[in-house]
Amino acid sequence: MLHVTPVSALSDNYIWILQRDELPQVVIIDPTEAKPVLQYLSDNSLTPVSILITHQHYDHTGGVAEILDVFPYISVIGPAIAPSKTALSIDLPIPRLITFTVGEGDAVFIPGTDFKFEVIAIPGHTLDHLAYLTEEKVFCGDTLFAGGCGRLFSGTAQMMTKSLGRLGSLPAETLVYCSHEYTVDNLGFAKWVEPERSDIVDRDALEMAKQEKGEVTLPSSIGLELSTNPFMRLQQTDVKQAAEKYAGKTLQDDWEVFGALREWKDTKYD
Ligand SMILES: [Zn+2]
Repeated sequence: MLHVTPVSALSDNYIWILQRDELPQVVIIDPTEAKPVLQYLSDNSLTPVSILITHQHYDHTGGVAEILDVFPYISVIGPAIAPSKTALSIDLPIPRLITFTVGEGDAVFIPGTDFKFEVIAIPGHTLDHLAYLTEEKVFCGDTLFAGGCGRLFSGTAQMMTKSLGRLGSLPAETLVYCSHEYTVDNLGFAKWVEPERSDIVDRDALEMAKQEKGEVTLPSSIGLELSTNPFMRLQQTDVKQAAEKYAGKTLQDDWEVFGALREWKDTKYD
């Protein structure tokens, strides 16, 4: 049995800690900061065996060096070095800290444990972005969010559309562990795109109630995203028409619908 626990960091990041059964070995995904992770490990008598990185943005890697100061022999697994144009000015130079680079189709086994992951390349938010899949759980960083998706930093609308389609083709029951608590904001936008869709209205009310109680709105699931996330519904007539209305022109391909929605959310939606 794989337990997944969120550790909150910065204003709205989640660092995911994976533990099998009650064993003390854990895998850390995207350590934004070291302090809350080290505290969680110490409080629960846990030992990290590996760090997995979805992409190199600072809010996914900022804690790596400090965790390695305390646990110097654990592996750090992440994408190969991306072109420099991918890096934000505040990103840390993590490539030197990655001990094993992985990419599309690779399998990750953590020696001495039963942790294993399948690597899926999902470029779009950044060129180097990866997802890690294990036991019907997908850790997808800043690509697919609950109710939305990541912005385009160095990838293109075509790439992101393909990557979201890839995630959308996973079994519906696959649980989605993304890296930010953006759900309520995203569903607010989803309601602009498809105001009549009861699945979205109902989910929005549910997630808002969770947020008001200070609860984590994750994980989501692929099935839930396919029914409530406009970025996963590019072929739906209502979504396409809303995107065309925003763009003021006919949109042919899915990636054009995606591009219009992304721009709409980035610039006009408040
Ligand atoms: Zn990012």
